[in-house]
Amino acid sequence: MIKKSMYRRDRVNLGFVKIGDLISANNFFSHDISSLINPEQRFFLMSIINSIPTEWRSLIKASTDVTVAGPIPSIPTIKMASGNVVPILDISPKQIYKIFLQQKQIAPTAKQKLTNKYSNIEIDWEKVYTLAFQCTLDTKIREFQYNILDCINFTNEKLNLIGVVESPNCTFCQEATESVEHLLFSCRITSNFWKHVLSWLRDNDVHVGIINEPDIIFGKFDIVKDYILINHILLLGKY
Ligand SMILES: [Zn+2]
Repeated sequence: MIKKSMYRRDRVNLGFVKIGDLISANNFFSHDISSLINPEQRFFLMSIINSIPTEWRSLIKASTDVTVAGPIPSIPTIKMASGNVVPILDISPKQIYKIFLQQKQIAPTAKQKLTNKYSNIEIDWEKVYTLAFQCTLDTKIREFQYNILDCINFTNEKLNLIGVVESPNCTFCQEATESVEHLLFSCRITSNFWKHVLSWLRDNDVHVGIINEPDIIFGKFDIVKDYILINHILLLGKY
């Protein structure tokens, strides 16, 4: 349905220009139009409606329902994410699609989990989610970083729960439970590794300052100088 155009002259002649014209107030195929069309047309239009997810249908309906009739502007406008109202003629279809997607986006549960866990810091999620794309071309490293953000790394802690490994303890030090935070940051072997990395960077006149657990989990998203270099090294080090 997305790829194929639904333009059919006979439907347009009957007055169905937008998908919203086909949906009734209770979110189904509009019965008002049943009498106007033949069974073949009805079947075609119903297949369009049924291919639209229910949430999208509600959005489409909400956007076509006008409870308070206002004057119709001579040039239709659209409200951008920034709050600006822009004439629709100045907006590309791609931007409209983006606005539509923003309305139906649901935050991943891992994001909420990490927000609660690191509630003492302000996380710039846009930067955090784009960081791996900006700072490395290696698909395996990118994947690894997204697994961290999605909280789906198979550490010994998780593997032990499902009976794959005998001990939940850290592969390196054997002293503590191998969680992502332990493995990537607090393990004495890992922290020693980071110490060496930072000292090597300092010798090369790249100053990272201190790094803490969120810096390792998310990347150093709040720096300007050497952003790509430092984050590339952090990603590489984690992997
Ligand atoms: Zn350890």
